[in-house]
Amino acid sequence: MATKFIKIKCMKCGNSQVAFSHTNKDIRCQKCDALLLQPKGGKAHLVDAEIEEEYND
Ligand SMILES: [Zn+2]
Repeated sequence: MATKFIKIKCMKCGNSQVAFSHTNKDIRCQKCDALLLQPKGGKAHLVDAEIEEEYND
């Protein structure tokens, strides 16, 4: 399985948080509520976010 956790940075407010790369639900910024990740039947689609770090484990 190629599932992993990713550290993503919100493009709107700069807040960083860790999320599951293959999430099956919308992930929103904990700080400003911007939509960061959207489920896409596999690896989630980045919306207002960029990947800062990937954890392969
Ligand atoms: Zn934010």
